[in-house]
Amino acid sequence: MKSSTFSSLPLKAALLENIESLGYTQLTPIQAESLPHILEGKDVIAQAKTGSGKTACFGIGILSLLDLSSFKVQAMVVCPTRELADQVCKEIRRLARFTQNIKVLSLCGGVPFSPQSDSLRHGVHIVVGTPGRLQEHLRKRSLRLSNLKILVLDEADRMLDMGFEEAVTEVISYAPTHRQTLLFSATFADPIRELSQKFQYKPVTVSIEEGHHADVIEQLFYEVEKNRRTDALGYLLSYHRPESTVIFCNTKKDCHDVANELANSGFSVQALHGDLEQKDRDQVLVRFANKSCSILVATDVAARGLDIKELQAVVNYELPWDPEIYVHRIGRTGRAGNNGLALSLCAQQELPRVKAIEEYQNTTAKWDEVAPFKMSHEDRFEPPMVTLWIDGGRKDKVRPGDILGALTGDTGISGTEVGKIDIFDNHAYVAIKQESVNAALTCLRNGKIKGRSFNVRKSQWG
Ligand code: ADP
Ligand code: MG
Repeated sequence: MKSSTFSSLPLKAALLENIESLGYTQLTPIQAESLPHILEGKDVIAQAKTGSGKTACFGIGILSLLDLSSFKVQAMVVCPTRELADQVCKEIRRLARFTQNIKVLSLCGGVPFSPQSDSLRHGVHIVVGTPGRLQEHLRKRSLRLSNLKILVLDEADRMLDMGFEEAVTEVISYAPTHRQTLLFSATFADPIRELSQKFQYKPVTVSIEEGHHADVIEQLFYEVEKNRRTDALGYLLSYHRPESTVIFCNTKKDCHDVANELANSGFSVQALHGDLEQKDRDQVLVRFANKSCSILVATDVAARGLDIKELQAVVNYELPWDPEIYVHRIGRTGRAGNNGLALSLCAQQELPRVKAIEEYQNTTAKWDEVAPFKMSHEDRFEPPMVTLWIDGGRKDKVRPGDILGALTGDTGISGTEVGKIDIFDNHAYVAIKQESVNAALTCLRNGKIKGRSFNVRKSQWG
């Protein structure tokens, strides 16, 4: 099944010639795994990290399927942001250079609507757009999908992160049920699998996971007396400066104390333990997942069900008794082909726990040293994002696209500056890169969301 060159695939000669002229000689791994299925017309759910050549997978799939004599929309690609949609358009046009008449149209917000409708009326083969603007065109019937053969959800994980599930669902409701559906994502978290179940028919699953646990997670142990643990933590955090860390404690009390001490030293930290009310738990998780808080201190019970991708480090403030729990804890880092760091503090009397871990994993523990260290405010480091709180939510009919639109309009910031969007009943959160937070505040305060002005401020807890 697997092939390594484009010429081994059943492609039109002109398309093949063009691909080769682009300098693509070998198939990338995700292309080798997915293209044979895509070209057979099957539904495919594909996972691979950024930069692995996913656009060409569906781009070639689309170009092989098009009937150029018909100027109806036959393929639609849904992307999370305008920038990504523009990149996809460019790559498809490059792949399509072998023929003059392929019309690819970008349908994104932030630009006037009616020129897009005009273009659609003149006939288009492929549309690439963001969920909000596609929804608008479909509702107004300027875009019709009755001839759609192939539907692509690109960067589906990011679309869910940005809260586009409802919009995507509506957009897809306009597509014929008899179609080919391709879903691309950097992760295979549960919500992605659910999306696939909802919209795909007998999909072939293709995943390019690099490395194995043992290779991607670096495990280091530190012998530290009990009363020096928090200073050791401060040292390790300031040294590694991970964007996202979960520190595991064995008790709720430790969880509390560690979070307080780190917060007092100016670290961006929150505690997650069983005593939190649902509302506070939601807030803690929103901030941690959107990277406006770098450190989460948690008990095993509280961390259950925590689904955070790209956790850079796991720290054991205290080792668990059971080596299986240790393995479970550290398995939360080093996912999706990223490297992970697992740092464990251990007092002398706890050395038997390390022994148990060594036996369980059949490895020898790697020991490292903590430099002498006293925590101070100089060691704090900022998380990459800031959370903005918006005084309007689902009940005000605020949708993610409205917030993104208000942020990225003509005088706005770029979509790449916007992180996760979380909508609750009466309010919403949007994460913005530190450097753009003032510009974002100005946009949201001066502009309108859904034609209304909402209260917007930096979230009180960060
Ligand atoms: P992804 O969507 O997986 O993040 P892209 O589709 O954006 O990745 O591709 C990343 C880069 O690799 C692009 O510049 C693309 O032109 C290039 N590329 C794709 N396929 C190949 C190939 N088979 N050989 C060489 N370069 C390729
Ligand atoms: Mg991509």
